[in-house]
Amino acid sequence: MRLRNWQQELIDGFPSILAQHRRFILKAPTGAGKTVLASEIVSTFYPGRKILVLCHRLVLLEQLERALGANHRVRKLEVGDTEPPFQDYDILLSTNMRAMDLLEDAIPMADLIIVDEAHRVSPNGKSYKQIIKRFEESGKPEAKFIGLTASPERRTGDQKDQLSLAFDAIIDCADIETLIADGILVPPIYRPHFVHDMDLTGIDISSGDFPVATLAPAIVKSSMIDYAMVAYAEERGKVAPRPISAWFCPDVTVAEATLARVQALGVSAAIVTAKTPIRERMKLLASHETGEIEAMVSVGVLAEGWDNPHCNIIVHLRPTLSKVLWGQTVGRGLRAAANKTQCVVIDVSSNWSTFGPVEKLEWELWSHRRSFEKYKNRFNWIGQEQSREDKDFSYMLCEQKLASGLRCSHIYRKPIHVDSQCPACGSHVAADIFQEQNFEDAPNEISIRRLFLDRSRALHQEMNQSVWSAMGGTAWKLAEPREKIFLAFCMAFANVSAEGTESESDFWNDVMAAETEIRRFLVDRKIQMTKQNGFDISTLADAMLAGRHIRTVQAQYGIYLCGEVLETCSSLEIERKYSKAVKVAERLAVLGCSARDNLPYFNAAEHLAAE
Ligand SMILES: [Zn+2]
Repeated sequence: MRLRNWQQELIDGFPSILAQHRRFILKAPTGAGKTVLASEIVSTFYPGRKILVLCHRLVLLEQLERALGANHRVRKLEVGDTEPPFQDYDILLSTNMRAMDLLEDAIPMADLIIVDEAHRVSPNGKSYKQIIKRFEESGKPEAKFIGLTASPERRTGDQKDQLSLAFDAIIDCADIETLIADGILVPPIYRPHFVHDMDLTGIDISSGDFPVATLAPAIVKSSMIDYAMVAYAEERGKVAPRPISAWFCPDVTVAEATLARVQALGVSAAIVTAKTPIRERMKLLASHETGEIEAMVSVGVLAEGWDNPHCNIIVHLRPTLSKVLWGQTVGRGLRAAANKTQCVVIDVSSNWSTFGPVEKLEWELWSHRRSFEKYKNRFNWIGQEQSREDKDFSYMLCEQKLASGLRCSHIYRKPIHVDSQCPACGSHVAADIFQEQNFEDAPNEISIRRLFLDRSRALHQEMNQSVWSAMGGTAWKLAEPREKIFLAFCMAFANVSAEGTESESDFWNDVMAAETEIRRFLVDRKIQMTKQNGFDISTLADAMLAGRHIRTVQAQYGIYLCGEVLETCSSLEIERKYSKAVKVAERLAVLGCSARDNLPYFNAAEHLAAE
């Protein structure tokens, strides 16, 4: 099989990746051909060796079985299997939940472990915690643990459950824009409409996303489905060779309401959900592939492991706070196919104005706690675009009243100083979103940093250091919760590596090394840290100036800790240490610290026992 450019490049560079990393993610967009890549890696670098492939869904397992089975001796693990692994085959395929005992036996024998849809790896979840631990403790020294995914970021803000605890690097194999240029993917063309009567602002998002139970009835009551219909009726006539669409809904009530409306347009349509029996689902999806069913309305099943290259319209009725979900669902429509030149993305869920186009999404091995909160502002992306220095455009919201009584509400980009019309309805009546919306100012982090660095250096020079060097015990013992975080920040600033980092995972390794040191220090001295909402950076300013929250003893001792760094390190090193120390303080604040801690990288009981 002839490899694609990106696959060949990756294979060519693979030996040097193997030399550098033990657990890493290969990132490539949906539809890029990750399964073929995995098969090629096995053929080229691991012929006849023992390989364990883990994935999360049966559908994927079957795809992998087909792809790998063509050239390798493959066995799919069945529930209740008890035979020892790798008896008369080289590749063992399994979901991570099946027959954990057998997986425990297989891991020390494996030369390579591949995890598909690796963003689902939960480093603190029951099965993966066990798998990773087993691999670290008993895996062959030269064995590798490779994750495959298009979106290497956890949807959860849980700090014990981030991908960087499972993998130490992301290898960026290809991005959407490159693959569009190579003809492997087609460009997405966005058609966003803002739905005025769908108010998401009051919904409780403490779970990390809009809860379906609140979201679904609000959608049905709003004009969201009306907007989807207007746009779909227009777009389906414009796509070539014929319209084949995938619709994403949050639940069955929205899906059923949508289905009825799609059918009323005279379009053949069907619903698939997680409850659709697998055989029926396969049948429906096969009819969708041929276009016999034009519109596939789905709930929660098409985001992964489904692939219909002929799909050329995506309709999004699922407002979310998950960048991963947005990226995955749109990715489903981008596979190239004969006579397909683009994929229209009709977005009535405000996901486009929240996250931006999927080809611009960026991923982080570490997703911060409550990082999803910024997506509460459903114009987040547009607000971000506002701050671009080279900005020569505005985002407009079309206010034209349509014959149906709806406002057009199409969101489009208009060059500044150019008089242009709404591409959806041709009207000139539109509001400038930049001017209309109040975008929150970024908190004044820069000025706080400057204040802290300048002021603490000056105070350190004035202080009697021999006095303060002896005050550590007192400062910690009397500290209030917020003062403890301040002291932890200062300790981290003093101790964390000043080295530059070349990747996000290097950065986090430094942060976690410093965090672990502080945890040891605290646990040894029986100092507890209670969980807090986060690390409020204004604490630093308070310690330097007001002393409302950080009293003199703690402030002065903290300054004493930071002083040497401020006087001996270069300004670049100071900047690096500062930004890492902020993350350490944030983590300690959010996770707390006690003798009962059992984090993937720090077990307090084991530490105390080893003393
Ligand atoms: Zn318009």
